[in-house]
Amino acid sequence: MTVITEASIKELAGFKSSDAPVLSCYLDVDGRKHVRPKEYLLELESLKKKLLVTHKDQDFSADFALMSEHVRTQLDRHGVRGIAMFSCAAKNYWKVIALPVPVANRLSANQSPVVGPLEAIVHELEPLGVLLVDRQRARMFIFQFGEVVERTELFEPLPREYDRRDDASRGSREREQHHIDELAQQHFRHSAEVVFRLFQEKGFGHLSIGATDDVHAALEHHLHPYLRERLAPRIHVPVAASETDIAKAVFEIEHLVEIEREQSMVLKLRDTLGAGSKAVAGLGAVLDRLNERRVATLLISNGFEQSGWSCACGALAVKGPKCPVDGQEMSRVDDVVSDAVDVALLEGAQIVTCEGNADLDVHGRIGALLRY
Ligand SMILES: [Zn+2]
Repeated sequence: MTVITEASIKELAGFKSSDAPVLSCYLDVDGRKHVRPKEYLLELESLKKKLLVTHKDQDFSADFALMSEHVRTQLDRHGVRGIAMFSCAAKNYWKVIALPVPVANRLSANQSPVVGPLEAIVHELEPLGVLLVDRQRARMFIFQFGEVVERTELFEPLPREYDRRDDASRGSREREQHHIDELAQQHFRHSAEVVFRLFQEKGFGHLSIGATDDVHAALEHHLHPYLRERLAPRIHVPVAASETDIAKAVFEIEHLVEIEREQSMVLKLRDTLGAGSKAVAGLGAVLDRLNERRVATLLISNGFEQSGWSCACGALAVKGPKCPVDGQEMSRVDDVVSDAVDVALLEGAQIVTCEGNADLDVHGRIGALLRY
């Protein structure tokens, strides 16, 4: 079983088979939805039937058998909510990736593995750092897949009250207050150090801080610039909150982070489109730029599929059969959008899969920021 990483996705995207199709199957095996394995086995059977409707003349029996066999006997659902299976039996190609999040069911036949859904997941899986802090306590967590994978705590009690029996003079009280503030500042500095150390040791994509406004401002001042760049929306739970309550709030924050990332990329696309020639929108234009290897970032609406054409030279097109690059005869592909994701990954482009982004939908559900 392969672990989902950018590298394993790139490797999948690199497998090509022009004569015998590669089947890509995504199956939701989430135990919360499907208590009995029979439920997703039936789902797999129905996906197979649907594929055969559009590929009447093809024999997928060997691939189908591998998939059923895996789902029936090899699947360990511990911590697994979805699986991705890639099969090209004619070439002895078989890969399975277990996913810690559920996926939309789909089965398709293409010239290479369909990796778009994996790209979307890999970003969702980026760990999130959470720091809950007040003037004397700091709790730091790293969340991944909705669970705590790392936790640490710091407690630096402030003196409750100075003994004022002997000296209640104004100057001394100010000095005392000043001293308490110093201690709190020191605590914020230590907290910021703890966060940075954890960031270096374990890594996380974003940091969400839970604190009052004044504590947040003081702490932000001590944060390493790397961390300041990674600040996510603030988390609203008390420092003493239970891990269950923190996890609930984290779920919201992760969603906000992803939406923000998608929206900022779509806005960048829109601005760049308006400014000149370093962006394109719409499937045809995007494929042309991919053929020229000019795409730096590919933006797609999740679920966007369209049939098209693919050439042995690697070029893709909406209209065929003549290749726009070398004039050869191209072959039809069921989903040229998925092929575009593969090509973009191989060209080293970043992929942004957008969930229900109206701004991208009006631009034809696909767009690209160009290298030049
Ligand atoms: Zn060609």
